[in-house]
Amino acid sequence: MPMNTNDDTSSEMVSYPELALNVITRDEHTISRKQISDNALKVLYRLQGAGFDAFLVGGGVRDLLLGQRPKDFDIATNATPEQIKHLFRNCRLIGRRFRLAHIMFGRDIIEVATFRGHHQEPSQNVAQQSKEGMLLRDNVYGTVDEDAERRDFTINSMYYNIADYSIHDYARGIDDLEDKLVRLIGDPQTRYREDPVRMLRAIRFAVKLDFDIEEDTAEPIEHMAYLLRDIPAARLYEESLKLLQAGYGLETYHLLREYNLFQQLFPSISEQFTPDYHSQTEQMLDLVLDSTDMRIEEGKRINPAFMFAAMLWYPMLAIAQNLMNQRGFSYYDAVMEASNLILDEQIKTIAIPRRHTATVREIWQLQLRLPRRNGKRAMRLMELNKFRAGFDFLEMRGEVEGGETATLAKWWATFQNAGREMRQAMVNDLDHATPSKSPRRKRPPRKKKSPAKS
Ligand code: ATP
Ligand code: MG
Repeated sequence: MPMNTNDDTSSEMVSYPELALNVITRDEHTISRKQISDNALKVLYRLQGAGFDAFLVGGGVRDLLLGQRPKDFDIATNATPEQIKHLFRNCRLIGRRFRLAHIMFGRDIIEVATFRGHHQEPSQNVAQQSKEGMLLRDNVYGTVDEDAERRDFTINSMYYNIADYSIHDYARGIDDLEDKLVRLIGDPQTRYREDPVRMLRAIRFAVKLDFDIEEDTAEPIEHMAYLLRDIPAARLYEESLKLLQAGYGLETYHLLREYNLFQQLFPSISEQFTPDYHSQTEQMLDLVLDSTDMRIEEGKRINPAFMFAAMLWYPMLAIAQNLMNQRGFSYYDAVMEASNLILDEQIKTIAIPRRHTATVREIWQLQLRLPRRNGKRAMRLMELNKFRAGFDFLEMRGEVEGGETATLAKWWATFQNAGREMRQAMVNDLDHATPSKSPRRKRPPRKKKSPAKS
């Protein structure tokens, strides 16, 4: 028989809400096995066959009840990670904060978590809290009802039971689904302190599902947003992609900003914010997030580096401008130095991986090179790896800045579509057009160099 590793009569540090189980039988709900992936079903049945409890839980249940396609299927069970590993050859145990089993079916991964229990006396050293009340380690196993209390929102706390196809609803998630409400389980301030990322998740689900955030859940966010400073930058990087690159980036950014959350994630961007939302930085945010959303809708590829390059460009230029004004940097040197400064600062909150910051730099450097098209330069630029990204970004800048930048973007658009002769003519035109603006600098012959002063 499966065992419960936790005795639920033990004393607790944090008081948890009393949740009442509401069982919705198979003919009272709309979820059918056909909507669940074969791999998830395989895992559920294998666990059940071995005598364990096995539930589909979280976003899988929520999205199916809403008639949407779940992004992934998460499973919860009373089998321990080791017991799970025994049952599945294709199983990997992962995670430090939470120990989880990943069952691998090629590229499809089914995540299986052992029920988590209440944290007990700190001396037990299995669940630890920081001074701010944040959970640092969290590996106490428990029962399914304890597991339900530990989940973030009521709509994420419904369990589809493979034993009888019923749904176990512990926190009245069904009612909140009906009312389209994102509501934290338990006392909001305590729950945010335990894990400040829940504030970001509240915004994410509200936008993704088109729900409201319930009043008591919404109220503390603005004042607790600063707690995100304690979250490791690697985790916030993952979250930032889920927030901004999952199809609803534009709306999510606006809501994050209203709740003072965006400001914690991107401090140097928010320095440029204005009351009327109309700075170049803000215009660019709208443009790039909207275009990202559209690309996702059209099934096109998206690159996080492009988004970060666009988001940080004008804040970077503001720093560069300071370096020119106050320290006499040339434009080129100022942009190079400002690029370093702003990326170093940004990765303190959001750990953008190095391969992406390298691309951000390339896209920025191309902005300096794209105006210089004389001779063979234009053709050579087009051969560069990141030319397309650099050009796409130039077009966005053209929309924000108008003027010369817009003209330059048009030139490049025409040039790319032109044939060989037309291209040559376009370059020739440049050479003859406005020599004052882009002079062909000839290197002075060496011999004429002025003699050293004696
Ligand atoms: P989606 O996968 O569509 O983004 P989801 O609800 O499945 O949404 P996951 O991040 O996959 O979200 O997490 C699965 C489940 O784990 C959640 O539904 C929730 O029950 C629980 N969970 C995830 N993160 C937390 C958290 N920070 N605090 C408490 N519970 C959480
Ligand atoms: Mg999920």
